[in-house]
Amino acid sequence: MSDIIDEIIAKKGFLLADGATGTNLFNLGLEAGDPPEFWNVDEPDKIRSLYQGSVDSGCDLFLTNSFGGNASRLKLHNSEDRAYELSLAASKLGREVADKSGREILVAGSIGPTGDIMGDAGWLSHNEAVQMFQVTAQGLMDGGADLIWVETISSPEEFIAASEAIENINAPWVGTMSFDTAGRTMMGVTSHDMSNLVKKMKYAPIGFGANCGVGASDLLRTVLGLNENADRPIIAKGNAGIPKYVDGHIHYDGTPEVMAEYAVLARACGATIIGGCCGTMPAHLKAMRRALDNYEVRDVPSLSEISKALGPFSSETDGTGDGPKPARVRRGQRR
Ligand SMILES: [Zn+2]
Repeated sequence: MSDIIDEIIAKKGFLLADGATGTNLFNLGLEAGDPPEFWNVDEPDKIRSLYQGSVDSGCDLFLTNSFGGNASRLKLHNSEDRAYELSLAASKLGREVADKSGREILVAGSIGPTGDIMGDAGWLSHNEAVQMFQVTAQGLMDGGADLIWVETISSPEEFIAASEAIENINAPWVGTMSFDTAGRTMMGVTSHDMSNLVKKMKYAPIGFGANCGVGASDLLRTVLGLNENADRPIIAKGNAGIPKYVDGHIHYDGTPEVMAEYAVLARACGATIIGGCCGTMPAHLKAMRRALDNYEVRDVPSLSEISKALGPFSSETDGTGDGPKPARVRRGQRR
């Protein structure tokens, strides 16, 4: 399996992953607060069209609609016993869409955080978390996923619990964390911490990196940090621009042109698995595909080149201390 990812990267130099799940589903009529995973069973055509959007945009891989498909998150909707069923349905639909595409497309079974706190300060035990993740991962693999994609994680404890669950079912996996707090994850993990963690894991991911967070600039600064010390493919899955609150909902201001530039810069920063996160729609993905297909080798961009192209950083440093010094953000540009 790690061969399949390697094969695609070897052919083209990169792999294009998908864009937003949430933003696309809201456009299809999902109401805020509703669990998107129910649609795997109740609105399968809408989920097919979500996946088809990635396929038609030229993605090599897309994630299943199962981000919140674990018992802890589903419990909020009195459906903690549906984790397996909803995850299975998510990847069955994914397999179906990928297989009829006529080209090789990987289905990555998405696993998001439990929403519970782990570690010394938390209440979710390691074993409980492993069990929970394992049910979801099993459903995803039974439904035909090619690999598991753990995403938006903020604590090392949760990342490790997920890896153990996936090890128990012998599946390949990749994992991303969300660095949304001045360059660190909510639980304080820096890019350097993550690279070191991955290196010493017992059942390590075949690729790792960053998703979501704040804007695309911050995410690339994290990728630079990860790349200083990486021994496997790096993932960049940044938001389409910077989130802004407009008329009661979150709007992402990144145009397809900006995301094309982001994709090229991500490649130059060392990422080989490149996609978008919140706000990234098919139009963005198509522009990214075109830009990456025409990629010409270039120097690693400086932080000021990144902020000039994609907008200012949300914090002055990425929290690593000995990491690359970020460009100074002018006061008036802070958001
Ligand atoms: Zn996101």
